[in-house]
Amino acid sequence: MPDSLLRQLAAAAPLQPLSFDWLAGTGVELAAWRLDLIDPQLSGNKWFKLVHHLETARSAGALGLLSLGGPHSNHLHALAAAGRRFGLRTVGLLRGEPQDTPTVRDLLEQGMTLHWLGYGGYRARHQAGFWAPWQARYPDHLCIPEGGGGLPGALGCAMLARTLGARVGELGWDDYHGCWLAVGSGTTLAGLVIGEAGRHPVYGALAGPGEHGVACEVARLLEEAGQADAGYRLVEACRQGFGRFDAQLAGFMREAERQGGVPLEPVYTAKALLALREWIAAGRFAAGSRLVFLHTGGLQGLRAAAGALAAF
Ligand SMILES: *Cc1c(COP(=O)(O)O)cnc(C)c1O
Repeated sequence: MPDSLLRQLAAAAPLQPLSFDWLAGTGVELAAWRLDLIDPQLSGNKWFKLVHHLETARSAGALGLLSLGGPHSNHLHALAAAGRRFGLRTVGLLRGEPQDTPTVRDLLEQGMTLHWLGYGGYRARHQAGFWAPWQARYPDHLCIPEGGGGLPGALGCAMLARTLGARVGELGWDDYHGCWLAVGSGTTLAGLVIGEAGRHPVYGALAGPGEHGVACEVARLLEEAGQADAGYRLVEACRQGFGRFDAQLAGFMREAERQGGVPLEPVYTAKALLALREWIAAGRFAAGSRLVFLHTGGLQGLRAAAGALAAF
C-alpha cells in the first residue's frame, strides 16, 4: 500500500515550467514540481512524510495518531486530514497557550483532539519520558515525531526522487541537473538524497538559522538508510530568521505569483525560491542547466501571514 499510494501522490503533482524575468539570459531552465496541488487538504511534502507512519499505525491496529506542532503547523494540518481520510483518530499537542488560528480551526473541523502544552511544556518534548503520560492516556495511538520526521518520513519522500526522472519528459527535457527544495528539519531533503542515490545533485535551502542541526539530522537519516556517503548541498536562505519576512520577500512572492503563476508562502517556499534566484544570478548554474524546484506546499499557513505580508 505505501509505495503505490506514494507513486499515486507523486504522479498527481504537476510539473510546471517557470518563466520569470530573472531567468532571461541565464540559459537556465526551471520548473516547479507542484506538490501543493496534489490535494486541497493534504498538500505538500507533509503527505509524503506521513504515508509510512499511517501504514505503521494501520498494520499495528492503532486507533489513532498523536503528534505535536505549533498553531500554524503544516504537519498537524496534514495529519488531521490524513487521519480523517484513513479512519484514524488524531490528537495534536500544541505549542503555547490556546489560540484561534485558521489552522487550529481546520484541525478542530477535521476532528483532531487538541492539548495546549504552553511554551515550557512544549520545550520539554525532547526530554526522556515526555511521551510516557501521553502514551498512557492514549494507549492505542501511535506517536509520530514532530514534523513527521525520522526514517519513515524520509523514505516517503524518497519516492519523489525515484519518480522524477520519468516525469521530466513532460517538460520536453531528457534529464534534469538538480533538485532544489526548502529545508526545515532536513527529513524531506534526506529522502530526496536517498531516492536520487547519486543520480542528480540535491540542494537544500535552509528556512532556519544554523546548518549544523540539519546536517546532523540528515547525516543520521542517510546513515540509517545505508547511504552515509551520499552528497548534497545546503544553502543559506533564512534571511532574518525562521518565519521572519521583509519587504523584499513579500515583493518577490507577489512577483512569483503574477509572473510565474506560483503561489508561495513566506516560511519555506518563498525563501527557497529567492535563494535559488540569487544562485542563478550569481552564475552558479551553467547555461543549459535544467532545475526542478520542489514546491513543498504549506499554503494553508499563508492565511495567518496574509495581513503582515500585505503591510509591505
Ligand atoms: C515542513 C515543510 C518543509 C520542511 O520539511 P522538512 O522535512 O522538515 O525539512 C518545507 N516546506 C514546507 C512548505 C513545509 O511545510
